[in-house]
Amino acid sequence: MLRQNAWNVIWKDSVGKKKLRIFEGDSPRTSGAIDFGKKLQDRGLRPDVVSRRHAFAPPRNKLKPPDTGLLWCPYCLKWREFRDFAIRVDGIIGPSNYRCPVCIITIKDAYVRKYNEFMVQKLEGTKVKLPSEKKIRQTAATATTGRRKRR
Ligand SMILES: [Zn+2]
Repeated sequence: MLRQNAWNVIWKDSVGKKKLRIFEGDSPRTSGAIDFGKKLQDRGLRPDVVSRRHAFAPPRNKLKPPDTGLLWCPYCLKWREFRDFAIRVDGIIGPSNYRCPVCIITIKDAYVRKYNEFMVQKLEGTKVKLPSEKKIRQTAATATTGRRKRR
């Protein structure tokens, strides 16, 4: 059986500092995350509720993105614009990758890939990759052949 889920309520305080509170429970409602989020909304803040442990497929009424270029975030349970950026973990900045700007999950996550096959491939295609050793040799070979043809 799956471990019980928990929910992050993430928001920015009045000075723009990112805040987080965790609510244990399978449902965002019974865990208290929704009620807490509403309280923040009443104070004029814009909280997000994010699943901590389980990924969710888009529900029937949200199968299609409301806009092109969006990916289904299985942890935010929302269509989001993934952006290419790096994050700092334990003081070290990791490699950049396309991430959900709210829950920071990357397009490497198995569930993000599962629900966004086409968009993940598209985004990966735009990423500048260091060529592999094999690719360098192939490119060199093609370049040589090209020169020979011209002679
Ligand atoms: Zn997310």
